[in-house]
Amino acid sequence: MLPFFTQDHARLQAQARSWTDKHLFATHGNEDLEQRARTLVRHFGAAGFLKHAVPKQFGGVQEKVEARALCILREELARGDALADTMFALQGLGSYPIALTGNDEQKRRYLPKVASGAAIAAFAITEPEAGSDVASLQMTALRQGEQFVLNGTKRFISNAGIADFYVVFASTEPEKKAKGVSAFIVDATTPGLAVTEKTQLLSPHPIGVLKFTDCIVPQGALLGTEGDGLKIALETLDLLRCSVGAAAVGFAQRALEEAIRYSKARRQFGRAIGEFQGIEFKLADMATELEAARLLVYQAAWAHDVGNSDAKQKSSMAKYYATEAAQRIVDQALQIHGGSGLIAGSIMERLYRDVRALRIYEGTSEIQKVVIARGLLK
Ligand SMILES: Cc1cc2nc3c(=O)[nH]c(=O)nc-3n(C[C@H](O)[C@H](O)[C@H](O)COP(=O)(O)OP(=O)(O)OC[C@H]3O[C@@H](n4cnc5c(N)ncnc54)[C@H](O)[C@@H]3O)c2cc1C
Repeated sequence: MLPFFTQDHARLQAQARSWTDKHLFATHGNEDLEQRARTLVRHFGAAGFLKHAVPKQFGGVQEKVEARALCILREELARGDALADTMFALQGLGSYPIALTGNDEQKRRYLPKVASGAAIAAFAITEPEAGSDVASLQMTALRQGEQFVLNGTKRFISNAGIADFYVVFASTEPEKKAKGVSAFIVDATTPGLAVTEKTQLLSPHPIGVLKFTDCIVPQGALLGTEGDGLKIALETLDLLRCSVGAAAVGFAQRALEEAIRYSKARRQFGRAIGEFQGIEFKLADMATELEAARLLVYQAAWAHDVGNSDAKQKSSMAKYYATEAAQRIVDQALQIHGGSGLIAGSIMERLYRDVRALRIYEGTSEIQKVVIARGLLK
């Protein structure tokens, strides 16, 4: 058991591991991506995993949403299936702004449904011209009496088209730039909101473009105070960032397991390839990097949960290191599989595609390094 865990964490890890082994190691054939995504959310609701994405008062298990529980679940689910990890993570990402700053009515309306798997959440900040530089977003939400009128485009929005609601970031006072951004809960059925593109990525992931055209939401859709939008977005990402590292650890763990199995089974030159020092050294490097990544991730999650002042920097280090290390580990595991690792649909080919996005979303590796360096230089 890791030093950052309580007995409850160890139990959750064991439960998530056996659930994953039982439910996520099957092949998925040609099942429709969106259908499978919806089914996974319902299964997570039934298994009780989504209770870790919301506070106790609104259907959860802990008083506050805990980074360690999110990391444990993401690591174990990613070990089984990338889409499972995505669908779990997005329930947290799309609902945490509500847990953080929603009023009682907003929390009661959305959070219990997120916890039971009855509603699918999404988080929409990225725009065609605002990626890493989120503060430069162009979408507006101009006040008109007791309502706001939303206009603009969001791209790379996970769960576009299958979400029941989106937490959307838009400028209520464009002249104030970053300080004029506010957050809104927008139900998927709101007139003026359209999913104009479903984007196909390297790895299965429901994602697309949202277009808002004179989309009217009531005052009651505003989250927190006007102008607090970016703060809400950044605090949400502060919780979730180390969990991206945890997903990387899950993919890397699976890659290592597959590489060990193959090294024992595959024979060349009259012996198992695992008996060649060239392969042994690869496995040793992979296992060492994986262990370092896991320790960084859970240290960062613990620092967040106990409120350490350097939690933000630690979670950037964890995300940066774990996602880059996982890429190297998966690549070496594929190398160990030789040509078999390239066969479309094989586990290694899947992992090779699945691991790539983690170095980009929720802050690229370069942006994590900017955060780490600024912390050092301030
Ligand atoms: C799988 C996936 C899921 C996503 N889900 C969501 C979602 O649900 N909601 C949402 O709002 N967004 C989502 N995104 C968007 C994601 O957060 C952005 O893609 C990410 O922030 C990077 O923005 P960009 O793609 O526009 O790249 P850019 O910001 O254009 O960056 C391009 C390159 O320039 C580098 N760069 C930029 N600025 C600097 C700098 N200051 N110093 C050094 N290098 C720099 C970057 O590191 C990158 O290598 C998702 C993306 C992916 C891939």
